Amino acid sequence: MPRMTLLFLFCFFSTLLAQTYFPDPHLELKEPIKFSTMQSFLQHIDRTKGMTVTTEGQSADGHPIYLVHVKAQKEPLWKVFFFAQQHGDEPAGKDAILYLLRDIEQGQWVLPDHVELWLVPMVNPDGAMADKRRNGNDRDLNRDHILLSQPETQTIHRLFRRIMPHVAVDCHEFGRDSQDYLDRGWLEWPHIMMDCANHPFFDSRILEMGKEWVERVSFYMNQSGHNYTRYTVGGVPPLQEQRYSTTELNDGRNSLGAFGGLSFIIESGRLRNADPPNQDLGKRVDAYLALLKTFLTWDADWLKIANAIKESRAAAPMEFLPTNCFWGSHGYRLTPVRVISLQTNDTEIVMSPNFMHDLVVKYSVPTPAAYYIPAEFAAPFTGLFDRHGIKFERLTESRNVRVEPCQLLRVETEFDPVYQRYDGRQITQYLPKEMHTFAKGSLYIPVKSLSGRRAALLLEPAMMYGVYQYEDFRKLIQEDGVMPVYRLPVE
Ligand SMILES: [Zn+2]
Repeated sequence: MPRMTLLFLFCFFSTLLAQTYFPDPHLELKEPIKFSTMQSFLQHIDRTKGMTVTTEGQSADGHPIYLVHVKAQKEPLWKVFFFAQQHGDEPAGKDAILYLLRDIEQGQWVLPDHVELWLVPMVNPDGAMADKRRNGNDRDLNRDHILLSQPETQTIHRLFRRIMPHVAVDCHEFGRDSQDYLDRGWLEWPHIMMDCANHPFFDSRILEMGKEWVERVSFYMNQSGHNYTRYTVGGVPPLQEQRYSTTELNDGRNSLGAFGGLSFIIESGRLRNADPPNQDLGKRVDAYLALLKTFLTWDADWLKIANAIKESRAAAPMEFLPTNCFWGSHGYRLTPVRVISLQTNDTEIVMSPNFMHDLVVKYSVPTPAAYYIPAEFAAPFTGLFDRHGIKFERLTESRNVRVEPCQLLRVETEFDPVYQRYDGRQITQYLPKEMHTFAKGSLYIPVKSLSGRRAALLLEPAMMYGVYQYEDFRKLIQEDGVMPVYRLPVE
C-alpha cells in the first residue's frame, strides 16, 4: 500500500477513534458514560491542548479520582473548579464535563484566554459503578463536608485549597417524578436548577454576587430552551414546604463557600421512573452544558468579582457569628409554583403559602478572638483541622487565660416537622467566664484569618449544627455537659 494511503488511513481511524468515546452529538447520549470509558478518554486526551490529567486521590474502594486541568492561554484571572457525581447515581454533570473537555480538545469550543479550568468529573467512582448515591463506605459524600471523614471529600478540599478558585460548582441531579408529584398528576417543572453558598457568616458582598449570578443566568437558560429556576428543596405545593438550600456547612456548596469565593450547586432534573431510565440523559447534559458555560463565557465583570473575592479572603471576620438561621417567609404570601401536568404536558401554576423566601437569622453570638481546646481533647480536633487545612498552635507551655466555657444540654436527633429543622441540632448554653489553665499540648486557634473564620464555623459551641451531631465528637463532652472547646472573648 502506498505510504500516503497508509497515512490517510491512520488519520481517518485516529479521528474515528477520537470520536467513539461518547455518542455524538451529546443529545444522543442514552446511557451514563462509564468509569472505564471516562478513564480511556482521559488517558488519551490531547496534552498539547494545554490539558493535563492527574490522579488526586482514591475512592473508598480504591478507584482513582481524576483531575483535569485546562491551562489559561494568558494570565489566569478567572479560576473555575467544577466537580461532579458526588452522588454516584447522578451522572449528567460528569457527562457534561466530559463533553465540554472533548469539545475543547477538538477545537469545537474555545475557552476564553484568561480562564483557567479545573475539573473533577467523577468524585464518587464507587457509587457511579454501582449506580448508587453513596461511596464504597456507604457514606453520603455531600453530607460529609464538616467531618471530611471520606477520602473523596478530603480530595475535593485538598484540591480546592491548592487551587483557590474564584468559582466552585458542585454538580447533582434530582428526580422530577417523585411519588408525591405523580400522585397529584404532576412532574416538577425545572429541567435544571442552581443556587449559591448562603451561610450568613460569609461576606455579604460575595453572597449577593452569587445570588445575582443565579438570577441573571436565567436569561441564557431560557434562550437554551431549558426550564431553569433557583434551586428549591422540599415537598409538593401548596401544603408541603418549599425553600432554598440549607445554610449548614456539611455540603460541598457551603463548605467551599467558606473559603470566600463564589460557590454553587447545580441540580438537573431526571425522570427516575422513565423506561428506559436514561432516555432524557442527552437533554440533561445539554442543560448542564448551557449552564456550565455561563461560568466560562459570560461577560460579567470578572475582574471586579475576582478583586472582591481577594479582599474578602483577606478581611477580618465579622463582629457577630450567626448561630441559628432558617428559611421562613415574611408575612402571609402566596407564591406561584410551576408544575407540569402529566395529562396535558402543560405548565400549571399552584399558589403556595408555604414557599419560604427569606433566610432568617434567629440568633448571633459575638465572634471570639480565638478558641482553646484542652490537651486531652486535642487529637480528634487536630485530625479535623488537618483535613480542613485549618491552622492552629499547640501550646509548648501551659497558659492561664480567662475563657468562656459552654455546656451542651442535648443533641436533638430527630427531624423537627414544625420548624422544619434538621436532625443533629446542638442545644447549648454559655457558662460564666472563668480563669482556666490550658496545659502544654492544648490547642489555640485564632479566628482572625480566613482559616480561623472557617475554624469558627466548625468550633463555635453555640452553632446549631456543628461537630457534636457526630458521635466521634459527642463522646468528648464531659459528664457535666462542658464542651471541649472554650471561647476566648474579644476584650
Ligand atoms: Zn446529589
